[in-house]
Amino acid sequence: MAEQKRDYYEVLGLSKGASDDEIKKAYRVLAKKYHPDMNPGDKEAEAKFKEASEAYAVLSDPEKRAQYDQYGHAAFDGNGGFGAGGFDFNSADFSDIFGDIFGDLFGGSRRTRSAGSGPMKGANIRTSVRITFMEAVFGVEKNITLDIKDPCQTCGGSGAKPGTSPKMCPKCGGKGQVVFTQQSFFGMVRNVQTCPDCSGSGKIIEDKCPDCGGTGYKSSRKTISVSIPAGIDNGQSVRIREKGEPGINGGQRGDLLVEVLVAQHPTFIRQDYDIYSTVKISYAVAALGGSVVIDTVDGKVIYDVKAGTATDTRVRLKGKGVPTLRNQNTRGDHYVTLVIETPTKLSKEAKELLKKFDSLTGNSLEAAEAVEKGGKDKGPDEKKKRFWKS
Ligand SMILES: [Zn+2]
Ligand SMILES: [Zn+2]
Repeated sequence: MAEQKRDYYEVLGLSKGASDDEIKKAYRVLAKKYHPDMNPGDKEAEAKFKEASEAYAVLSDPEKRAQYDQYGHAAFDGNGGFGAGGFDFNSADFSDIFGDIFGDLFGGSRRTRSAGSGPMKGANIRTSVRITFMEAVFGVEKNITLDIKDPCQTCGGSGAKPGTSPKMCPKCGGKGQVVFTQQSFFGMVRNVQTCPDCSGSGKIIEDKCPDCGGTGYKSSRKTISVSIPAGIDNGQSVRIREKGEPGINGGQRGDLLVEVLVAQHPTFIRQDYDIYSTVKISYAVAALGGSVVIDTVDGKVIYDVKAGTATDTRVRLKGKGVPTLRNQNTRGDHYVTLVIETPTKLSKEAKELLKKFDSLTGNSLEAAEAVEKGGKDKGPDEKKKRFWKS
């Protein structure tokens, strides 16, 4: 059988170094072309479809692909992979490809994997934690308290009263699933449903454990330490492995997903890894140049404002932004908008000096009077219009 098979790469029209994306694309094209629904009764198309699907199942799985690259078809001979029993569609993830092409064609077989009496990973739990702006920038350890399910100690997780044990479900014979078969282009397709009598556990509990009420689990309030990495942004989640719901039939625990809610900062605004803020500078500093103190997430820095700086000038403090999640030593920048502040309370002396300054720099205070004198016979309305035009 092995020597009659075409090379999987050849089947998909690819070379050995093809990327995952190329493999997916090539299969998508072939699957559409040869799908039996689009070629009713065409045995050759059906064979090609199966051949391409098999090639994809292997090459899209990194482990299988590595085996295939090393041993060729021999890698899957004799281990129940794709022997005479036919092609194992459950072993590859077709869902994203078939999801859009064929709808729920594989729905039945996908559900198989999440039901039944085999080990099954527990469900993930979601929760959230509030942190400050600065905690998001530099990372923080937080304790969160939540109810966590653990197997009941009294019944050892079986749900049955101590001294008794759960009985095998007669409906499904302990499999947790009921199977019916259907004819399709792959031959007989097994459709599997979760057993309605035992909800998939394969067991019926006659005498329930008094401690857990037959569930096999007990909840208790627990405190979990969450390490929130520097650079995390509002709405992102931290995954804590195996702190979710307990697994079923010896399966792995689910994960705990902690969504991080970051409070706003009174001064800083964050955009990705950059920080934005506004700093007021005096007219004198803007005109003559001078040092200003700028708050950053690292503390205060002194910045030398150039002489003749206009209001709303934006300056960049390189590397004073938020550390990136991937590498804490790589940081965004901090952009500061310098805004010239107009004084509102001036002493008599300051006012005099400012007037004197004005008379030396274009006499702006007298500009209106000059217009007024020039337009003596004109009414006040006329005067205004001229102002607006100029
Ligand atoms: Zn119990
Ligand atoms: Zn059952």
